[in-house]
Amino acid sequence: MKLFLSLVCVALGASQALAQRDFSQVEIKVIPVSQNIYMLEGSGGNIGVSVGSDGLLIVDDQFAPLAEKIAIALKKLDAGKLKFVLNTHWHGDHTGGNAFFGKEAHIVAHTNVRKRLADSKDTKKEALPVITFDQSLSVHFNGEEIKVIHLPPGHTDGDSVIHFTKANVVHMGDQFFAGKFPFIDLGSGGDVAGYTRNVGEVLKKIPADAKIIPGHGPLATVEDLRTFHTMLLETTGLVSKALAEGKTLEDVKAAGLPDKWKSWGTGFINTSRWLEISYNSLSKK
Ligand SMILES: [Zn+2]
Repeated sequence: MKLFLSLVCVALGASQALAQRDFSQVEIKVIPVSQNIYMLEGSGGNIGVSVGSDGLLIVDDQFAPLAEKIAIALKKLDAGKLKFVLNTHWHGDHTGGNAFFGKEAHIVAHTNVRKRLADSKDTKKEALPVITFDQSLSVHFNGEEIKVIHLPPGHTDGDSVIHFTKANVVHMGDQFFAGKFPFIDLGSGGDVAGYTRNVGEVLKKIPADAKIIPGHGPLATVEDLRTFHTMLLETTGLVSKALAEGKTLEDVKAAGLPDKWKSWGTGFINTSRWLEISYNSLSKK
């Protein structure tokens, strides 16, 4: 499980595990989202793409060994120049392509993304964001305002969601695992209560008919995000209640979760791991 996690979401530091992984069979799939916005699926976090007369902008860039395949998929979409890479957070399955794409495009991310990448000894200089911000910023590109909005500690302490305001698309980064329990990186400043709050705050602000690109999982709707929020509230509520009653982590794991959440434990994070993350985070308070 540890190896699996490091592959999926955790770290640039897991380069040894990465080197052993075979990416040669991974195909990059292009999914139209809305107007000039596309989603790329391969391995790792979903990539958002804006194409148009100003060129290309991408949100996240998956694992380093996939960069050339991603570049080919982008070229097929549009021959324009890649101008910007926005990073939703620092994890290697979202920033692994930075060193490759950073040679031609400006990388934009929250201050803590640059800090955490810079602290990792494996990071090349070209992989570091060159434009950083603390709260939010906008890129005016391909005829719309693309808002990059930092959220308080949730998945990590440096996450942002990206809102393509005219195309009506929101890229949630890892603040959304569609239909699955999320990974929350407590070691990178993540926080389960904050994560849940963040999803609730985003839901309050986005149009009901927005298309949602999750960090992991298929293209989604606002309704899917609302279901995810309900799952977070209910499952972490059960853990909070158990904590208040003095239950141990073993008790909580033994009790498990109601059957209706069973399918949510079939992704990177199974039910037991989700309970553990929730317990460890919520017991810190
Ligand atoms: Zn992540």
